[in-house]
Amino acid sequence: MIDDKEHVEQHVELHLEEEREATMHRGSWDEYFMRIAVEVASRATCDRKHVGAVIVRDKSILATGYNGSIRGLGHCNEQGHLMEDGHCVRTIHAEANAIIQAARNGVRIDGATVYVTASPCWGCFKMIANAGIQRIVFGEFYRDERIFRFATELGIELAPLTPSPAPPAP
Ligand SMILES: [Zn+2]
Ligand SMILES: [Zn+2]
Repeated sequence: MIDDKEHVEQHVELHLEEEREATMHRGSWDEYFMRIAVEVASRATCDRKHVGAVIVRDKSILATGYNGSIRGLGHCNEQGHLMEDGHCVRTIHAEANAIIQAARNGVRIDGATVYVTASPCWGCFKMIANAGIQRIVFGEFYRDERIFRFATELGIELAPLTPSPAPPAP
């Protein structure tokens, strides 16, 4: 044994101090996952709107998605938007792509939380609900007010969260 008792106690005390410091600076888990969703959104390929989604359960990321074209087809930034009723419909939305990624990989997302940088559109909301996702944390509000009423009715928590800027690197 190299460490005597006093040395060990000092070490533990120092460790606890570091732990407290880290907790103060790193913010909540919700903010952490929302910042990751913001990062995921940067991969989006329709510049009309960049959206990112992260599906999480028990503090583990199960799947991620951003809005982009059908796999193997050209992107908006290469081929232009595919407009319909004032919206670009070339892309599959971020939340849908995250759910699809989970399906492709055989990952169970029942009971999970989805972090999404913009609130789900009606189509994505329906998919999220039937995927068994229990909690939606969204950044900005986007488009469809109906999700609030139906989320309440379904017992799905729908919580706004504006991501704070990432803490500066040490
Ligand atoms: Zn587009
Ligand atoms: Zn959508």
